[in-house]
Amino acid sequence: MLILPSSVLPQVATEVDVIVLGAGPAGCLASARLHQFGHRVLCVEKLFFPRHVIGESLLPRCNQLLREAGLLAAVEARGYTRKHGAVFLSGDQRERFAFADALTDDDPWTFQVPRDDFDKTLATEVRRQGVDLRFGHAVRTVTFAPDHALVVVDDLEAGRTIEVRARFVLDCSGYGRVLPTLLRLEAPTGLPERVACFTQVEDDDRPIGDEGGDIWVCQHPDQGWIWIIPFSDGRTSIGAVCATSYWDAQPGSPQHKLQQFLAREPNAAARLARSAHVMAVREVRAYARVVSRMYDQRWAVTGNAGDFLDPVFSSGVTLALESANLAAGVVSRFLRGEPVDWARDYEDILRDAVAVFRAFVKAWYDGRLSRIFFTPHKPARIKQRITSILAGSVRRTDNPIVRDPDATLNELYRLVVQQETTSPVE
Ligand code: FAD
Repeated sequence: MLILPSSVLPQVATEVDVIVLGAGPAGCLASARLHQFGHRVLCVEKLFFPRHVIGESLLPRCNQLLREAGLLAAVEARGYTRKHGAVFLSGDQRERFAFADALTDDDPWTFQVPRDDFDKTLATEVRRQGVDLRFGHAVRTVTFAPDHALVVVDDLEAGRTIEVRARFVLDCSGYGRVLPTLLRLEAPTGLPERVACFTQVEDDDRPIGDEGGDIWVCQHPDQGWIWIIPFSDGRTSIGAVCATSYWDAQPGSPQHKLQQFLAREPNAAARLARSAHVMAVREVRAYARVVSRMYDQRWAVTGNAGDFLDPVFSSGVTLALESANLAAGVVSRFLRGEPVDWARDYEDILRDAVAVFRAFVKAWYDGRLSRIFFTPHKPARIKQRITSILAGSVRRTDNPIVRDPDATLNELYRLVVQQETTSPVE
């Protein structure tokens, strides 16, 4: 996989239709789409790839979005682990949600991706398709005029600053949060502060067959949960997520805390008994982020530059791709001079999608969802609806959970509690 240094690329165009900030999954997909629609795109990425980033377990919905953007073949060629389902474990309780059972037209599988390699694969493919994508180009400021935006970018390799005039700015800067910071868009998340502590190991004891590629989500007996995500090169991503107050009260270094946390959860402990760390332990704190608005005349935010709630349902990359895809369509219509309705065609759709995961996240941490997950004898249609959400299919309104996530989860919970005292859930 060849990534050309900036020195052998032509000069950066200083006048473009769209400048895309960041070349993570959202930035790559948006750039590919806008280029396919015939617009002049410049994508600027402040780091040099490969670089480590967390967020490795995809959902089947990603396949379709990558396919439509002409990016799936490049991803498939990397031979990543195929993920056919999600397994939730709590002590001796276990429930597997196989994507083949989902109420969706999406593929019944997806990938577990080491993000350094995945993001580099996307960026390389986007460049191969003809997008001007620059590494080592960090956005410093953005100012808006009625008919354009001026973006000041530091070219870190050449040690100079360039000014790009663009008709539209698409912020895909993830945790860089360029526009949310500059335009003061940060809003309260409504979620307690949590911390994630993670690393990679080799030689975990994986299930054999298709289930070997599943994600494991192990509910911890103290509080929080553990992820186990197997990669095709023998490495496995593991992480602990819990309340910051709990984590900070534990003694020792992050590595020690992680080891102790894993050792107290029997499923993770058994699977990881013979494994050895191959990456330094890292922590991410207060990862949840929400914006007060997602667009204006000449800008929009996508992916993690917009809303990100929690990693427990592996929804981050899916929503990054979904939002980038939607935004690219609206930007393209805007650039062609067609009327656009950003609220209807972008923000409302995304807010609804995020609301589904918000309801799941809330119900997961207050214990309702695990009670629903682990209840025996769930009717097939209820399991199908839950599996669809876990597959990232959060826009199908024939699923009652999508239409009214909070009320539907409450009703399911009520039925489960009732069933546990009387008869099976109807
Ligand atoms: P990013 O992937 O963050 O990409 C943004 C890019 O913008 C970066 O390359 C960055 O260098 C660049 N950038 C930033 N600032 C600037 C600037 N000033 N100028 C130019 N470039 C800039 N999601 C999943 O789908 N599955 C998971 O299993 C999962 N696990 C997670 C675990 C944890 C602990 C956390 C915190 C998140 C997890 N996520 C997961 C979420 C996932 O990490 C993000 O949702 C996803 O990476 C968002 O993609 P993005 O393209 O929006 O942003």
